[in-house]
Amino acid sequence: MSEKGTISINAQNIMPVIKKWLYSDKDIFLREIVSNGCDAIAKYKLLALKGEAPARDDYRVDVIVDKAAGTLKITDNGIGMTEDEVVKYICQVAFSGAEEFLKQYKSDEGENGGIIGHFGLGFYSAFMVSSRVEIDSLSWREGAQSVHWSSEDGMSYELSASDKADVGTCITLHLNDDEKEFLEKYTVRSVLDKYCAFMPVPIFLSEVKAPEDKKDESAGGDAEDKPEAQSEEKPEQINDVNPLWLKRPADCTDEEYRAFYHKVFHDYEEPLFWIHLNAEYPFNLKGILYFPKIKNEFSASEGQVKLYSNQVFVADNIKEIIPEFLLLLKGVVDCPDLPLNVSRSFLQNDGYVKKLSAYITRKVADRLVTEFNTKREDYQKYWDDIHPFVKYGCIRDEKFYDRVKDALLFKTVDGEYLTLKEYGDRNYKDDKKIIFYTSDPKRQAQMVKLYRDQDTDVVVLDTLIDNNFISFMEYGGKEGMTFKRVDASMEGLTETGESDEDTRKALEEKFRKALKQPDLTVRLEKFRTGELPAMITVEEQSRRFSEMAKQWGNGMAMPEQRALVLNAAHPLIEYLKTADTDSDMTEMVCNQVLDLAEMSRQTLDPERMVAFLSRSNKLLTILCDAEKK
Ligand code: ADP
Ligand code: MG
Repeated sequence: MSEKGTISINAQNIMPVIKKWLYSDKDIFLREIVSNGCDAIAKYKLLALKGEAPARDDYRVDVIVDKAAGTLKITDNGIGMTEDEVVKYICQVAFSGAEEFLKQYKSDEGENGGIIGHFGLGFYSAFMVSSRVEIDSLSWREGAQSVHWSSEDGMSYELSASDKADVGTCITLHLNDDEKEFLEKYTVRSVLDKYCAFMPVPIFLSEVKAPEDKKDESAGGDAEDKPEAQSEEKPEQINDVNPLWLKRPADCTDEEYRAFYHKVFHDYEEPLFWIHLNAEYPFNLKGILYFPKIKNEFSASEGQVKLYSNQVFVADNIKEIIPEFLLLLKGVVDCPDLPLNVSRSFLQNDGYVKKLSAYITRKVADRLVTEFNTKREDYQKYWDDIHPFVKYGCIRDEKFYDRVKDALLFKTVDGEYLTLKEYGDRNYKDDKKIIFYTSDPKRQAQMVKLYRDQDTDVVVLDTLIDNNFISFMEYGGKEGMTFKRVDASMEGLTETGESDEDTRKALEEKFRKALKQPDLTVRLEKFRTGELPAMITVEEQSRRFSEMAKQWGNGMAMPEQRALVLNAAHPLIEYLKTADTDSDMTEMVCNQVLDLAEMSRQTLDPERMVAFLSRSNKLLTILCDAEKK
């Protein structure tokens, strides 16, 4: 007996929407059909658990590629459907059987028993790639008749009896001519790997070998006596039904975490460490976030956070759920309660999603702080690798900053790691909260040494993110400190006291003339160290502006506020005080003093370097001549 019908609920309106929705990710039809199979098995298990259906242990979903027939078959041995159920669940688009079932069979723990579907649209995605879809199903109910359903467009269908003999459902997709790629086993495999790698029921992939295929394969060989005309190879399980993130953190070993990381992210490097999210309240949320080792520069590193819903892959890097800065991490997050089939704009405006995102941020921050508090030595070891994440996170999210600020470290030139508070306790003076830093410990070694000689700690801030981080700390961090690069001023390096303005003026004139720099600013100070005749300072803010202008290449000339600071007590400066303004020697000494000062903060440009070397040789010769006499 055969029956015809047309799907109720305006399918004509819905089909185009589904088609459009699926256009970008056509391959999700496989996810939908396979997850329906998993759902059907989850439902069966629930019934068995309640003693309503006989218990079994052979649950599985099979995906069978049949190139010759042009079909993909997806079979499951779940609850199956009666004819009434097919009409009700399959034929009423947007009427999700899953929701109705759940209402009836809510398990005692209030969990949803691992059922994936929510929206009743999944099945129809099959029509994206199929010219005909068939269902053969036998319900678990006693005395049920098997049913065959067939449709070409998802709108009108035919019902008849089926010869299916075992409980469960088989979906047959007759693929469109232009979707033949899904008849390639490796394509199907990669789609399954993407979406189904962690689904909760064993999923097997196999291929029907057509007789012609066999001949092709053995064409050059000796195997004329192949067995039966058509056979299936041994199905291969493609998924892991117990993904690590579902285990209790206490039961997971480091080896397991590492193996999982390598397997899922194909990254040969070891992760630095990881955070196992495992919460039921206030959010049902499980997952593992790994801090990967950064290879090159911060900007080049790309993370990947895979979002799952009940072990079904949904998408990578969903910004609405995973805070942007955490996308630099690699990991998996499973949120069973998310309304995932809805649009992005909905996610953006959803209060639940916002809270979830904030919750993930908080968990990551808390974990960092715990790591710092309980394993500071380890934490310090990977601080060099993780600090860009942490700093970026602080800049992006003040709440994150508030949580991690006590675990923020500053690495000193001596390789110590200090918290803000530790730096302050050791170095803040006269109510001045200044953090001295170097952006290049090698080039700025001389300036660094001056501070180190005064027992002032100098921290290294030498990555791309540090410039932004410094600004954030000064303006957004609200701790009231300022950062000064070691060459920004002579703060703390000079004796306080009267300076002799007339002498300063005279020296300034001499230098201006000798260096042919009429705008040069010269300061005269008494250095705490006797060794150096002069230093160059570049006022912090003006240097930052000029660097920024350079970085953005907008050609805006931002003059740096430079000064040549002379050491009033140094013999060379003493000499210059009385030296003849117009003599060659004065000119050479002035230039030499300036170049040496410049070299202690940056390398000279080539022309200047050549001049410096030749002048140095000249001065040495003069010295030797004088010695001879
Ligand atoms: P959803 O999974 O969101 O409920 P679908 O369109 O994917 O929506 O499926 C609609 C309904 O059809 C399911 O809820 C279920 O009742 C029924 N169904 C689909 N596939 C199967 C299957 N393999 N076995 C049993 N029932 C199924
Ligand atoms: Mg579904």
